[in-house]
Amino acid sequence: MITLKDVQAARERIYGTTYVTPILTSEQLSQICGNQIFLKSEHLQRTGSFKIRGATNKVKQAVQEGANYVTAASSGNHGQAVAYIANHFGIPATIVVPEDVSLCKVNAIKAYKGMVEKCGMTSAERLPRAKEIAIQENGVFIPPYDDPYIMAGQGTVGLEILEQVQDVDVIIVPIGGGGLISGVLTAIKESNPKIQVIGVEPAIANDTYLSLQNKQITAIQGTTTIADGLRTNQPGNLTFPVMMKYLDDIVLVSEDEIRQAFSFVMERMKQMIEPSSATTVAAAMFNKLPFQGKKVVTIISGGNVDLDQAPNFIVDTQKLNI
Ligand SMILES: *Cc1c(COP(=O)(O)O)cnc(C)c1O
Repeated sequence: MITLKDVQAARERIYGTTYVTPILTSEQLSQICGNQIFLKSEHLQRTGSFKIRGATNKVKQAVQEGANYVTAASSGNHGQAVAYIANHFGIPATIVVPEDVSLCKVNAIKAYKGMVEKCGMTSAERLPRAKEIAIQENGVFIPPYDDPYIMAGQGTVGLEILEQVQDVDVIIVPIGGGGLISGVLTAIKESNPKIQVIGVEPAIANDTYLSLQNKQITAIQGTTTIADGLRTNQPGNLTFPVMMKYLDDIVLVSEDEIRQAFSFVMERMKQMIEPSSATTVAAAMFNKLPFQGKKVVTIISGGNVDLDQAPNFIVDTQKLNI
């Protein structure tokens, strides 16, 4: 398992390439939630999500060991992050994307000089193809979450929170494959175990929730949640044990609650965050937390929203169910 030292080493390695993102607050949001809410704003991070942290930690290490080509399989933020950082280090990157990828995502990868290859519709098709290209090109495949360097890199979000929010009580983290939360858990629990870390999943993408309940990795069928960064079918082999060891609690939010949180943050706080990130705000807004009056950080994991899709995420905030 990774340790606090690995996260601290990651922080040194990514220094200067990634931003220390701001903490945003809203009095109205804190009032609604009955807790003091702080938004750790990774939607304002380079490439629009925290994924650049893990990608930088991993790619930099690979480059130091002589790599001169990287690949990734991703339809979203991980692909953009790998393309950006490969270009930063001056090496080519091929990102394998689904056939039905939106033009805006392809354009984002191309803007960072990444090469795009379309392959199949599922990650089960994309992953082997990305690994195959890596072997052909004598390059390195960069996994999205189940890798010690990726996990340690994502954990640097936790170290920043410790410095930015004095006496934080609780941190709420969205869970896809579990790279972000396993890094944050390591950073937090090995620094101050009194701080609670709570995970969030969409109710219709509850693979980690079920896995924790069953005490073993449990897969779900494909899901259509609007939180597209959280559509993984099961937690990772490396991330799951960290969650088993350290996670305090995991809560579920409905698609309607995600939409309401998305709309609130956009209208009242003027921030464009992705549905995957709105899950943490939804958990705080809709009484999923069994306490009041605490200092709560919600991790806003990214802000890459396809504008074509946005109308599907918006509800009338006059009718907010709060
Ligand atoms: C990847 C991603 C997540 C989930 O992170 P994992 O490390 O897979 O758990 C959450 N939100 C956004 C915006 C992401 O891009």
